Amino acid sequence: MNEDTHVFYRNPFTTYPVIARGEGAYLFDTKGKRYLDACGGAVVSALGHNVPEVVEALKAQLDSVEFAHTSQFTNPPQEQLAELLAELSPGGLNHAYFVSGGSEAVESAIKMARAYWVQMGRPEKWMVIGREQSYHGNTLGALAAGGNRWRRALYEPMLYQRPRVSPCYCYRCPFDKDPAHCALECADDLERAILEVGPEKVSAFIAEPIVGATAGALVPHENYFRRIREICDRYDVLLIADEVMTGLGRCGTWFAIKQFGVVPDMICMAKGLAAGYVPIGATLVHNHIVDTFHNRRNVFQHGHTYMGHPLAAAAGVAVIKYMQQHKLVERSKKMGEELITRLREALHDHPHVGDIRGRGLFCGIEFVLDRATKHPFEPELAFHRILGETAFANGLIIYPMGGTLDGRRGDHVLIAPPFIITKAQIGRLVELLVKSIDATVAKLRERIAAAALP
Ligand code: PLP
Repeated sequence: MNEDTHVFYRNPFTTYPVIARGEGAYLFDTKGKRYLDACGGAVVSALGHNVPEVVEALKAQLDSVEFAHTSQFTNPPQEQLAELLAELSPGGLNHAYFVSGGSEAVESAIKMARAYWVQMGRPEKWMVIGREQSYHGNTLGALAAGGNRWRRALYEPMLYQRPRVSPCYCYRCPFDKDPAHCALECADDLERAILEVGPEKVSAFIAEPIVGATAGALVPHENYFRRIREICDRYDVLLIADEVMTGLGRCGTWFAIKQFGVVPDMICMAKGLAAGYVPIGATLVHNHIVDTFHNRRNVFQHGHTYMGHPLAAAAGVAVIKYMQQHKLVERSKKMGEELITRLREALHDHPHVGDIRGRGLFCGIEFVLDRATKHPFEPELAFHRILGETAFANGLIIYPMGGTLDGRRGDHVLIAPPFIITKAQIGRLVELLVKSIDATVAKLRERIAAAALP
């Protein structure tokens, strides 16, 4: 299949196994090999594979209608899903704008912020500021707002320019502060950035409550988002929480931002919303923004063909109901504590494990050449990639990624198994992971030793 087909996104130097089926926390390829799926692709499969209740809900929807354009009809699943999300999200975020994925949800938020300020009589406000060491999607607006230098590099001339804002990265504090003496300089850096371009130009600030794809489950200082909210309010800047990875229970609460004591003006979500059963995304919008449109009898000028797709919304409803019925958010918290404890027990004195962090079933491990200095591996070593491949060969799927503060170096993995994972499976996950880390270090031993020489 690999040589004869013409799917363009494949890496031509890799031979991919062919997926045959999924069941719970496992995937099986056509040769019968079993993989413990400890990251759900890119943190998508929240319920595990092949949950009959979700499959039945999709079949039932297909039996009634597969599609009716939302400019002509509404449909029961999207109405029900919007209602459920209004109940579960932080206060006032009562409106859902449905799209087909995370980047679309972020693009919608970026444009909605602009449309909001135009209606408020402030048409010069358009710029969305994001942080270094963040990822908000690959479409041009989302890429411009984000700070993943590797993903941005090729497209840099096409991206709007915005000031850089420091991440909240306590393990590698950009201000060289010990967390015990932190004065939230990284949050105040947003104020500096807003003043640099002029508050009259800035429409919104976007941030992942817990950073995923660029930094491996980076949990912020507990007061970080409170300070950010204050700064946003001071300068009439909307706060967008990008919960595309963290939303819907992944971090042990329905929304991760709830853990940091603020209500954002918008929340973007996607992956866990239909847990991989079909593509969907959503931008949750605060009443005060929607009222601005409704009071002026305006519609938000934006849209995609598949928004509010009945099948996608039916999957979202089925996923939320399943999670409620089986108390999976509570389980994500509890099993997350189990996972991080087991990881710390197994790896606390590993010479190349710098940091283990996360919330709920969203854990990150940062690897370093030297624990004492936190010096990263050289990028040429591709430690994270080799670890990902080694784990895969061992039947464990994890999400490897590179990049630390200078955007080029650094090695992390994300561990984000389905919420139904058992204690025994967590034990096996940790066992396979340690085995894969040791094998990776062994494979790279000579090059690591050479790099470590003074
Ligand atoms: N925002 C965040 C925080 C993400 O992690 C991602 C994807 O990883 C996106 C946005 C983009 O989502 P998608 O790949 O569905 O377009």
